[in-house]
Amino acid sequence: MRGLMQQSPLDVAGLMRRVERLFGHKRVITATATGEVVATWAEVAARARRLAAVLDTLGVPDQGRVGTFGWNSQRHVELYLAVPASGRVLHTLNHRLFAEEITHIIRDAADDVLFVDRSLLPRVWPIVERLATVRRIVVMDDGGRADLPDDPRIADYEDLLSRVREPARPAVVDENDAASLCYTSGTTGRPKGVLYSHRSIVLHALMLLGADTFAISERDVVMPIVPMFHVNAWGLPYAAMLAGSDLVLPGPATAPAELIDQLERHRVTFSGAVATVWRGLQPLLGAADLSSLRMVVSGGGAVPGALSKAWQDGAGLPLTNAWGMTETSPVVTCARLATVHDGLDADARREVLRRPGPPLPLTEIRIAGDEGELQAYGPTVAAAYYGAEGSPASFTADGWLRTGDVGAIDRYGYLEILDRTKDLVKSGGEWISSVQLENEIMAHPAVYEAAVIAVADERWGERPLACVVPVPGAEIDERDLRAHLAGRVASWWIPGRIVVLDEIPKTATGKFSKVSLRGMVGL
Ligand code: AMP
Repeated sequence: MRGLMQQSPLDVAGLMRRVERLFGHKRVITATATGEVVATWAEVAARARRLAAVLDTLGVPDQGRVGTFGWNSQRHVELYLAVPASGRVLHTLNHRLFAEEITHIIRDAADDVLFVDRSLLPRVWPIVERLATVRRIVVMDDGGRADLPDDPRIADYEDLLSRVREPARPAVVDENDAASLCYTSGTTGRPKGVLYSHRSIVLHALMLLGADTFAISERDVVMPIVPMFHVNAWGLPYAAMLAGSDLVLPGPATAPAELIDQLERHRVTFSGAVATVWRGLQPLLGAADLSSLRMVVSGGGAVPGALSKAWQDGAGLPLTNAWGMTETSPVVTCARLATVHDGLDADARREVLRRPGPPLPLTEIRIAGDEGELQAYGPTVAAAYYGAEGSPASFTADGWLRTGDVGAIDRYGYLEILDRTKDLVKSGGEWISSVQLENEIMAHPAVYEAAVIAVADERWGERPLACVVPVPGAEIDERDLRAHLAGRVASWWIPGRIVVLDEIPKTATGKFSKVSLRGMVGL
């Protein structure tokens, strides 16, 4: 016997209807290069409906990919709504990547149009001739001073919006249809696309509202510092519209003093970012009134104990850890104090919050295999990569995601991350592919072999260290090697430390043994 309940689809259009009907008076505040823009959610939703009509006039097909190159801004939120709600796929692009990677990603996704903040146009324009599928570039004037090329493919966001006569009619989408696309470095090789569905986005937003998750409510003022190109800013904009919270968006104003100013002035209650951001704000904590904050989430990497203590001392609350991946929407676990922690003193409570915590409702985690790999399962976890639906290496036979992290889970389900099996370095919340960096180093004529390992770094979390073996008779000149890399990888990929060795230790199968290497360089 089947249940007799309504099949109301979980979709982004539903989120939009809710925020405009119930919370139209609440606000979205964006910092710009020249000041601040304040809009109501009703205005944002109305503009998003017009934007959907713009996509129609631009001829973006059903399921067509709409790429975005944007800071955290109101217009980016409008794209978050209009693109999926009109049956297209939002493809957020990481503008910190190197031109080669950006080109690969846009080509792989076959983006039809790109929406680009004016200040970021110099990141895209030089590669545009290599992007065969991109028909139009819509510039969002964020006060950036970049020149606008005189080219028929370029259009202005506000100009297009002002020409629309009436909003688009809502598209019919299946809740399992694709809503947005985000690329990740994955474990090896080229970046891979993770394709979220309407259903996974809505479920994830609901999970963030949970009392034992982020407990985001109508009373909150939510400020995602985590970029909107990074897994939908951890789903925070969608959670804010579901709950009816005010949303504060830092735009390009991401210097520590600017972030502190926004947290203080807008009485922000909830914020999320990687530990590198929280470390940057640390010296400014004593001078600011951050008493409005009720939860500060540090995700994407380990939370150092000293940093969390500095936040407790300077801002009155410790950092709360959350674990996740691009493949998992992203939040899967979130630290929390449960009844078993009653009676712990402040230091011990802070230690509990410093670890990733137990899984959110509807998600499951387990530790498997010889290496103790963390695996994840649930309706907000990827089942395959875009364009590589098999991708067997990343998934187990019973359909769980292999995370490439090594962890342990205690009897109450609390996760601890111990190590990583994937060959990547996470610096300031962004990935550096060791393998790709090794290839570029080995392209230098004086280099015979090179292996890259991650070393702990106080400011960035991790930094790459390059171990290099010279070709017989040659000498490695560090400055020359860095200059060689400068044209091949993003500047923040270039290793600060280069160690010259006679030989890279190998495993029985001839691969670089990074474990032995770490021992050799004293890590
Ligand atoms: P990304 O897909 O870029 O969001 O990166 C996901 C990866 O970041 C995970 O597989 C971990 O290696 C790392 N990571 C994310 N959150 C945490 C955390 N709370 N603690 C330690 N590592 C984390």
